[in-house]
Amino acid sequence: MNFQNLIKEFKKKGYKLTPQRRIILEILSEEKHISAEEIYERIRSSQPNVSFGTVYRNLNILLELGLIKQLDFKDGRTRFELNEGHHHHLICLNCGSAVEIQSCPFSSEVQKAAISQNFSIKSHSFKVYGYCRNCNYKKEKKGDRKGEQRN
Ligand SMILES: [Zn+2]
Ligand SMILES: [Zn+2]
Ligand SMILES: [Zn+2]
Repeated sequence: MNFQNLIKEFKKKGYKLTPQRRIILEILSEEKHISAEEIYERIRSSQPNVSFGTVYRNLNILLELGLIKQLDFKDGRTRFELNEGHHHHLICLNCGSAVEIQSCPFSSEVQKAAISQNFSIKSHSFKVYGYCRNCNYKKEKKGDRKGEQRN
């Protein structure tokens, strides 16, 4: 979904697209997997009077509308991304970055098993934890003293 479609979708649902909600969507269309705190910091640079509570409330409205998704990369931060295209994440345990992968391991077998349990599936999650290219590279350079990294 591109930004214009997103705006249309938003209006279709009968919500007012306040400047702040618009900015949130803009931020999320520029950067994926960004935390509520980071979104707040960015908004504050143009709207110094905004409170974290308001930003959070607006994020929740966008969540309820299904326009954004909440992500948990197990690093203690709640992150968000636009709800576009089903995908999964490779999450770096060192720097917290995430790479999106388009393949999905959810199989018809899981579906069958759920049906046999009379279980209605609403969503699923699948995450892979490890070390990203950058962090691997830094690790390889360890041993060589220059390779010491700040944390
Ligand atoms: Zn990393
Ligand atoms: Zn993602
Ligand atoms: Zn999936």
